[in-house]
Amino acid sequence: MIYKRSSALFAEAEKVIPGGVNSPVRAFKGVGGTPIFVKEAKGAYLFDEDDNRLIDYINSWGPMILGHAYQPVVDAVVEKAKKGTSFGMPTEIETKIAELAVSMVPNIDKIRFVNSGTEACMSAVRLARGYTKKDKIIKFAGCYHGHSDSFLIQAGSGASTFGVPNSPGVTAGTAKDTLLANYNDIENVKALIEANKNEIACIIIEPVAGNMGCVPPKNDFLAKLRLLCDEHDILLIFDEVMTGFRLAKGGAQELYNIKADIVCFGKVIGGGLPVGAFAAKNEIMNYLAPLGPVYQAGTLSGNPLAMAAGLAMLTALNKDGEVFKRLANKTEYLHNGIANVLNENNITHTINRVGSMISVHFDEAEVVDFKTAALGNNETFKTFFHGMLNNGVYIAPSAFETWFITDALSYEDLDFTIAAVNKVAKTL
Ligand SMILES: *Cc1c(COP(=O)(O)O)cnc(C)c1O
Repeated sequence: MIYKRSSALFAEAEKVIPGGVNSPVRAFKGVGGTPIFVKEAKGAYLFDEDDNRLIDYINSWGPMILGHAYQPVVDAVVEKAKKGTSFGMPTEIETKIAELAVSMVPNIDKIRFVNSGTEACMSAVRLARGYTKKDKIIKFAGCYHGHSDSFLIQAGSGASTFGVPNSPGVTAGTAKDTLLANYNDIENVKALIEANKNEIACIIIEPVAGNMGCVPPKNDFLAKLRLLCDEHDILLIFDEVMTGFRLAKGGAQELYNIKADIVCFGKVIGGGLPVGAFAAKNEIMNYLAPLGPVYQAGTLSGNPLAMAAGLAMLTALNKDGEVFKRLANKTEYLHNGIANVLNENNITHTINRVGSMISVHFDEAEVVDFKTAALGNNETFKTFFHGMLNNGVYIAPSAFETWFITDALSYEDLDFTIAAVNKVAKTL
């Protein structure tokens, strides 16, 4: 494939945008080469600036669960835009989408809308700290909760239980309040709680991790976390920015039948516009300003265009009783097809999958946490990525990302993808 115009556009972008991109993963640093510039997209396909057609397995990192330019969302946004795009005053549509979200998601009474998943997680942690009057939080290595300071933390050295910054600009003071645990390792979490008695406000987790590839919770990990949180008066925060309205109507809470105290949303809930949200029972949500003392605000929060897109998306997902089953079936078909082809070509691999989230690791070991995810062969992944791209299939430009299956994919598209894997496997 030819990427002449994309390369030229990237060179222009680099002059005025740091690294040429507004979010680092887009720069292809994990795989080499220069990023593809998108001209337009429809259904399961991206069309780039060189007029290549690519089957899209990223789907804006999740939001386009029903495909690109999904007509009801487009219509809702266009109609709203004609009536004014922002007021900084309440609008009826905010209540409409809130009512629908509360009816779809278990264990929440109220929901507050923000502009991104980052904002949702950041605000949820502030609320948890304010509500419990405790400062420390536990997060898991390899889980991503957006780019706010408290989450940009890596493990401290040796026996220290507290984290250290993993980006310049995050202060040691902030880092010391974030404790880092290993995903799927309940003993590790118990030890952290023991070492920090009565100091932990919340445990925040991706109930199915999606930012180190797809890593499912194992051996009732979520149920055990729930129990630990109850024993120690710790709030359990499910970061469902990726899993919410994707794994089921009620997200991972519904799929695993575990109740979280606070739930964060993003991605699908905005239908492709910038939306995040966090939600909980009344007792916790009423702790938020203007009812309660914990401050949180946003000039564009609840923006009418964003709410229109989100409402159209949630309405479609709520109406369609089969959509999550259909998505899971397509993902299973893809999983089986890719596994067969890789096995026939003797390529060492592990595939993880939950619902419509799937990741292919060039790794023999089971991928259960960040350490095992990092064992994958990155050179093989790079060759795989570029091979797939050259065969018209766009997967995430990093070995640590999940592929997101959209309902717009046909079984012909899936077969096309499996055939591309077969071609590329011969080059690995
Ligand atoms: C994408 C993501 C976020 C951050 O959302 P943004 O909208 O990019 O700020 C947070 N948590 C999880 C689990 C995510 O996948």
